[in-house]
Amino acid sequence: MAVLNIRTLPDPLLRQKARRVNKIDDSLQRLIDDMIDTMRDADGAGLAANQVGVLRRVIVIEIPEEEQVLVLINPDITRREGEREVEEGCLSIPGYRGELKRSLKVRARGTDRDGRPVRIRAEGLLAQALEHEMDHINGILYIDHLESAERLWKLEPQEAGTQTEAS
Ligand SMILES: [Zn+2]
Repeated sequence: MAVLNIRTLPDPLLRQKARRVNKIDDSLQRLIDDMIDTMRDADGAGLAANQVGVLRRVIVIEIPEEEQVLVLINPDITRREGEREVEEGCLSIPGYRGELKRSLKVRARGTDRDGRPVRIRAEGLLAQALEHEMDHINGILYIDHLESAERLWKLEPQEAGTQTEAS
């Protein structure tokens, strides 16, 4: 297991669409373990594979409300409901936060790390994290959803160390 380097803007990999995973093998398991280590090391709530330089549709999410780390391979959001204003940060855009609209509830599906189908109904922070990470594997960043430039702000140096809920 290892902590990987997190790509930050303007790394072009963050703007590319990740490819579907067709085979769950040892190297994919290693990638997932490394992604979990990297997310925890950075105090993040989630991480997508292209953030660590791998263009594959793999995401990991770990938020206090859920007991276990969520690993999703080839995830899709099948339904979005409602809208709410959230504050968001991203490990690939360090030192900034923004305010944007996310869905109130989402339904998602994919497979777990053993290839078993998973269906999720999520709200709150989990729904937000699912949308954030799904965006990543489609080459989209939260700053793309900002309604205006004033919705993005730079963190003060003392705040920058506590990137809560960044993913
Ligand atoms: Zn992010």
